[in-house]
Amino acid sequence: MIPVQKYCSNCGATVVLKFTEGKDRIVCEHCDTIHYTNPKIVTGALCVWEDKVLLCRRAIEPRKGYWNLPAGYLEDFEKAEDGAIRETWEEAGAEIEIEKVFTVYNLPQANQVYIHFLAKLKDGIVRNGEESIESGLFREEEIPWKEMAFTSSAFALRKFFEDRKAGNFNTHLGAFPEK
Ligand SMILES: [Zn+2]
Repeated sequence: MIPVQKYCSNCGATVVLKFTEGKDRIVCEHCDTIHYTNPKIVTGALCVWEDKVLLCRRAIEPRKGYWNLPAGYLEDFEKAEDGAIRETWEEAGAEIEIEKVFTVYNLPQANQVYIHFLAKLKDGIVRNGEESIESGLFREEEIPWKEMAFTSSAFALRKFFEDRKAGNFNTHLGAFPEK
């Protein structure tokens, strides 16, 4: 669960896993440094054009060949919404306008938190990015539910179609496993 780190980045000594400040942490007993670790943030977008949403088919592992909303790791010093804009451009060559935070989805076992924004495609133009085999716009009945790469995307899509039916887009909190 805790990322592997063998040596202390402060003094170079071998670190140990030790119960410290309420949980197991990576600790250097040589220079008394606690090496705190944090979850990764994945940022992405549910991009809408007319009655369709943008999906990308992954060209890279994990889950190569499966469909996903454009998303990826937030970079250092980057705003979450800028990361979603960047990832959508990299994966689908599409320009978007962010509307709101749509889903926050926790994956505590993978030590990740997904943030998906609701966004509008600026011109409906979708290309194939470097990290996608193909990109496309899908109506609700065309969504390849059984070929979705990650539960985080399926959750956002499900909430999108539910909200669209209800005529009001909310912000949703989800997790896997659900409890
Ligand atoms: Zn040290």
